[in-house]
Amino acid sequence: MAASLASRLTDLHARIADAARQAGRDPRSIHLLAVSKTQPASAILSAYDAGLRAFGENYVQEALSKQPQLPADIEWHCIGPLQSNKSKPVAEHFAWCQSVDSLKLAERLARQRPAGLPALNVCLQLNVGAEVSKSGITAAEAGALAEAVAALPGLRLRGLMTIPPPSDDPGQQRRWFAEARGCFEALQRQHPSLDTLSMGMSSDLEAAIAEGSTLIRIGTALFGARPPTR
Ligand SMILES: *Cc1c(COP(=O)(O)O)cnc(C)c1O
Repeated sequence: MAASLASRLTDLHARIADAARQAGRDPRSIHLLAVSKTQPASAILSAYDAGLRAFGENYVQEALSKQPQLPADIEWHCIGPLQSNKSKPVAEHFAWCQSVDSLKLAERLARQRPAGLPALNVCLQLNVGAEVSKSGITAAEAGALAEAVAALPGLRLRGLMTIPPPSDDPGQQRRWFAEARGCFEALQRQHPSLDTLSMGMSSDLEAAIAEGSTLIRIGTALFGARPPTR
């Protein structure tokens, strides 16, 4: 297993480097988040041993059960939809929450962030397709929410995360990512410290990098196919 993870990681770095070159970007400006939902702690440890330190989890309870078995210097990102009444373990056990989609959730995370920890890094989740089935705010809502979140103690607003509607068409993929980029750049004008545009997964990372992604979230291309769940 370790060997195949290593070879997938090599392939992934080559894809990132190619996409960055085509976009005229420095590959070091694109950070890799290993999405480890449904993967056992042993698989996360293999990825850790291969040098990865940032891991994304969708299901809080699943993450909490794996975290104690893993090295303490892992940077955990919550990337799944989060109901505001489930915020406390995220405030206490994660470094990032990328799925903030309401002021109520942000306020709870801010209040629940333990004083001894650094600020919780936060991305607002932007619903670019405005799909009713997906969580996230619209571009029209982003400015006001960013303003309010940036003022909360205990949180550090870093940028936007988006999961566009699935498409096999690279042109369509780029249009969704371009929409997110436009919204991100508008926010940056108000908040110049924003540095994170989290977009791109295993099947669309090239389009995301072409449109300025700074953080790609990769599951399948790193760990292999996930077992079917839920
Ligand atoms: C599962 C998931 C990913 C990774 O998807 P892959 O296609 O396996 O790379 C990225 N982001 C979010 C929010 C996810 O839920």
